[in-house]
Order: sequence, then structure tokens, then C-alpha cells
Amino acid sequence: MTEGVRLKDVREGRGKVSLWSEDDGKTVLNLAVNEYLEVPSRLNILPLTRGYLPGDSPSRKFLKYGLHVRIPDVESREEAARHYEQIGIGFQDRIEAVVNTAAGPRRGYCWTGFRDRRHRLARFVDMVEAVELIAYIIKGKLAGPRMDDREEDMQNVNDMPSRSDDDKYNFVLRPMPVKFSENPAADAFDLRADCKCEDSQFHCESNKRYVAGEDLMCAHIVAAFGLASSKRSSNIVVQNPFAIPREKMIRLKEKVATQTIIMKKDRHGGAFREAPTKAEVEALLWIAMKEVNYMEMFYHDDTAKKMLEAAECIKV
Ligand SMILES: [Zn+2]
Repeated sequence: MTEGVRLKDVREGRGKVSLWSEDDGKTVLNLAVNEYLEVPSRLNILPLTRGYLPGDSPSRKFLKYGLHVRIPDVESREEAARHYEQIGIGFQDRIEAVVNTAAGPRRGYCWTGFRDRRHRLARFVDMVEAVELIAYIIKGKLAGPRMDDREEDMQNVNDMPSRSDDDKYNFVLRPMPVKFSENPAADAFDLRADCKCEDSQFHCESNKRYVAGEDLMCAHIVAAFGLASSKRSSNIVVQNPFAIPREKMIRLKEKVATQTIIMKKDRHGGAFREAPTKAEVEALLWIAMKEVNYMEMFYHDDTAKKMLEAAECIKV
């Protein structure tokens, strides 16, 4: 579905190109088919927090060391349960709060698990791809994964397909934040899976000096979580750590991926045009979201079942 930016069109003078400015969320959504937005190289869309090895590409550095937003800290599993049960604050409220206060390009939103103290990174680009992947599966264009939930707090996922390669991935989602768990609100923070796809591996091994450990919640993990959530009936998922894109958000990601052009400088000071990388698409989505209403872009769904409804609307 997502094809590269039609750079050829632009080079040959067929497309209409305007300059991306800081507040272009709405402009991107309204681009006609042959219109493009060019992101000038002086706009730093991949801002970094700290040092890095000089050999890495800017997108690679950003994925690891770029600015991010943190889901507000919760001190303990007990505090997560108290917020959820007594005040009614769940993970979906936390995502909405951080998105509404973000002001500029980010590599995604992060949080820390209680049990393993590892960081998790979730990106909008992966959450949209997850819904697209579910669309391919429920509409029969890709064979769905085999799933087995014999244990109530785990989901064994086998042969999770991919849209970008022919590989199939196996992993376990655990703990599942399900109804009969002793503390689903905390389980949502602790959810983990070890996918072996290129995005996840690239993330883990991008730098030998990186010691803290951070897991990327790749599109396969998010899609598997959505599929598992909708399948469970006896012990349903009641907390969801992922934002579920509405049709408008899916369209925004599509337009950013195919109708923006990144201007880059080569070593000799010359300029060249490139289609955005996944890291750049994520950064531009965060910039664009400053101008749009959260509730227009995302569902607020603790059970994650809306992922299937969102996927139904996608043409494959
Ligand atoms: Zn993956």
C-alpha cells in the first residue's frame, strides 16, 4: 500500500511541490495526489538527546537517541492498579496526555516495565502498520498467525506474517493485561515480546555502548496484541498500551510516507532529495500532530478490539 515518494514525478516537474513548515499537520492531510511537501534540510527533524557513534546514519541515531516522550512515571505495580481502579486512569489516558503535550519531532513514546526495568518504545508508524497488517490478514491477503493462549496471562504467537518481507515471526506476548489477572493495569506496562524482525534487531544492536536495553514494540507485536485481544472471550484484554489509529491517522501516515520529500546535503554541500525513512516518517507525524485533535486521530480503547474495526476500513 505504501509506496515510496514519487520522486521521479517531482524531478521531472510533474508534481506540485511546496515547502513543509512547522505547523503543517492539516496541510499534509489535504495534499492532492500529485502534491508534495519538501522538508528543507535546515529543519532539524531528527533532534538527539545525547552522544552517539559518528558512523551511524541520522535515522539510526534518532531511533536510539532521538527525543521521545515518556508515559508519566508510575512508581509501582500497586500504584498503577490504584490509578486504574480508584481514579480511572488507564494506559490510554496516559498516551493521550503525552501526545497532547508533545511539541515537535519525537522518535515515539516510551515507558519502563516494573518487573524488568527495561524501556519500551512504541512508534505511531508501527501502530499504523500493525492495523494495515491486520487488514491484510482479516481480508485474506496474508495467512494469519497461529495463536495459542493455554496460559491465561500469555499468548503464544506463531508464524506472524510480515508485509515487508517473506519471513514469519514467533514470539510470546507476556504478561497479557487480561481481566482475571491480579493487576492488568500494571501488566500493560510489563507487556513484552521478543520479535526477531529487522526493525527490532536493528533497534537492539544499533550501538555496542548502549547498555540499558530498550525494546521496540514493532508492528508485528502490536498487530499480534490486537488480534489476540479480539479473539479472547473468556479472559478479555482490559488494558492496552498502544494507540489505535483512526482512518484519519492512517491517511496522515500514508501521506507523510508517500508525499513528503526530505532534502539532504551531501558531503560537498550539494543538496539531494530522498523519500523519508521510517524514523523520519515518525518524526514528521509528531510534528503534524501538534495541529490535529487527538480524538480525531485515535480511538480510546482499553480492550484493543478497535484495531480490527480500524483494519476493516482499510482497502487492501
Ligand atoms: Zn517485529
